[in-house]
Amino acid sequence: MSHSSTQLIHHPYTPPAGFEAVSPAVHKASTIIFPSVAALRNRDWKHKTGYTYGLHGTPTTFTLEERIATLEGGQFCTLVPSGLAAIVLVDMALLKAGDEVLIPDNAYGPNKAFAQAELASWGITCQMYDPMNPADLAAKLTLKTRLVWLEAPGSITLEFPDLPALAAAVRAHNASPGQAHPQGVVTALDNTWGAGLAFNAFALGADISVQALTKYPSGGADVLMGSVVTNSEALHLLVHFCHMRVGYGVSGNDAELVLRGLNSMALRYAAQDAATRQLAGWMQGQPQIAAVLHPALPDSPGHAQWKRDCLGAACLFSAVFRPEFTQAQIDRFCDSLQLFRLGYSWAGPMSLCVPYDMPALRVAKPWPHKGGLVRFSVGLEAVADLQADIAQALAGL
Ligand SMILES: *Cc1c(COP(=O)(O)O)cnc(C)c1O
Repeated sequence: MSHSSTQLIHHPYTPPAGFEAVSPAVHKASTIIFPSVAALRNRDWKHKTGYTYGLHGTPTTFTLEERIATLEGGQFCTLVPSGLAAIVLVDMALLKAGDEVLIPDNAYGPNKAFAQAELASWGITCQMYDPMNPADLAAKLTLKTRLVWLEAPGSITLEFPDLPALAAAVRAHNASPGQAHPQGVVTALDNTWGAGLAFNAFALGADISVQALTKYPSGGADVLMGSVVTNSEALHLLVHFCHMRVGYGVSGNDAELVLRGLNSMALRYAAQDAATRQLAGWMQGQPQIAAVLHPALPDSPGHAQWKRDCLGAACLFSAVFRPEFTQAQIDRFCDSLQLFRLGYSWAGPMSLCVPYDMPALRVAKPWPHKGGLVRFSVGLEAVADLQADIAQALAGL
């Protein structure tokens, strides 16, 4: 069973006696009933060998945790109520006052915002680094650095970093005596784009992988959930104990929706990948467009790393317009699209787009393009209809 698409469907799960169905049962509980005081005192919540309280997991959430860990090639998984909560949980589990966290300049925006607001107010500093330059990361690692975020590719702009080189910079820093944080530097990857299908986060050097299950694993654009996966029991227990203390529970009905989505995830990923590459390639030939950003395109930043490390690509591409088009014209272009609706999320059935003000989002290195940028997320509609939709909106420019 070497293929993810098979593993996601055939998975060890013990059904109730005499009722073996294709889908696992849905269990819901706030509280668990114990048969005796002795049982209540002895129940082990630390290793998930028993059930203690709804917030700490049910048979349904444990099943989903096991499947997400398998999908990512990890051993331990913790579910949280959103992808952003997965990022925040890792930050809270690892960082203490006086520590520093390093975040790629092209990271998912709310990851930076949490660091700049809450973490800063708790005495934890953050710096942005250029993810396309491992030397920049190496130069920013200090005695204070405890956590390095990685993201592949960058949110919105889709530059694909050299993950093994970034991880090697952290390993070299950890190996220099007296130079590194006493507890060592941990790498955590936002793996929402790869979804556990495009590449193995742990094989490329991450210690922790987080995902917004909101995107591909759900696939329905109707549920929010996140996961934190690792192969290290020590890191898992740090995350798990923090999870116990902050009350990040997930509902059984939401877990059911994600379990259902997993069955079709590999097929959706492949279909949306093919459609996205077709549209991105076509978009490159349009006279209004200065650049198309998608890691499978040879002149997109990080193409060589993507080609070396990935088996596929997610459903996102961004188009940079020629500088003669004003933001007002680009906004009108977005408004005139009929099938691509305006919305932030992605990997659901409906195609979406968002215009971004790129220069305002960069700190470590100035944004190189002059024209405005629109990010497209390709859904499950017929690709010819999507292309015709962009064509009519471009003609309106
Ligand atoms: C959507 C997204 C998240 C956050 O997920 P939510 O479930 O919406 O909180 C995190 N990282 C990336 C890269 C995302 O695209």
